[in-house]
Amino acid sequence: MRRKLAAGNWKMNGTAADLAEVEGICKAHKGAGVDILICPPATLLSRLTDAAGDVIATGGQDCHAKDSGAHTGDIAAGMLADAGATYVILGHSERREDHEETDQDVREKAKAALAAGLKVVICVGESLEEREAANTLDIISGQLAGSIPDAVTGETLVVAYEPIWAIGTGKIPTLDQIGEVHDFIRARLEERFGAGVGRSTRILYGGSVKPGNAAEIFAVSNVDGALVGGASLKAADFSPIISALE
Ligand code: PGA
Repeated sequence: MRRKLAAGNWKMNGTAADLAEVEGICKAHKGAGVDILICPPATLLSRLTDAAGDVIATGGQDCHAKDSGAHTGDIAAGMLADAGATYVILGHSERREDHEETDQDVREKAKAALAAGLKVVICVGESLEEREAANTLDIISGQLAGSIPDAVTGETLVVAYEPIWAIGTGKIPTLDQIGEVHDFIRARLEERFGAGVGRSTRILYGGSVKPGNAAEIFAVSNVDGALVGGASLKAADFSPIISALE
């Protein structure tokens, strides 16, 4: 009942030359039975949305909590929607770290995004110290409670579990560890939002997902897809990950 989602986060990568990668993915996955999302830098959003046609959805990587105003360098959720986005990633660990975003900040941004008609991909995940101190589930629980606003539905909310120590490192948790956290997130969502929203919300795994490990990760219970960084930049890498989900 949950449609699988392969999401790419290009982070601060990509110029017009990279739109050719998007065309490659469109050709290879037209009519795919899964949802495909690419979140490019804002500078490419409009052109990438054009290139993506109806095969790939596009999204922003962050938005401001306000609709407009004197916020130099920031982008409002409505502007992302205006540029063609239907999703926005919020609370990525790089935003939480580089821009000191708190759970409360993420929640306010998510409210603005939902009000602008965007779906939100809310990221949670523990640091290596937190995992080693056996605090992972407490950390995830706090981030879920603090970052997700009340007004979500199974349609508009996607949760991405991204252990910080697995991002860009080539390391991934064991499949049991991934399953434990995904089952835990599902249970928390059901507890807070009820079975309807809790069971229909997609939960993605993120952190060093590659063509070589995608299939085994996707076989874990309550893994509904992936949020992919480095391996989403080239069609040759992202396409097999999408195929593993199909
Ligand atoms: P990675 O990044 O796939 O390059 O590890 C994932 C992410 O940060 O979303």
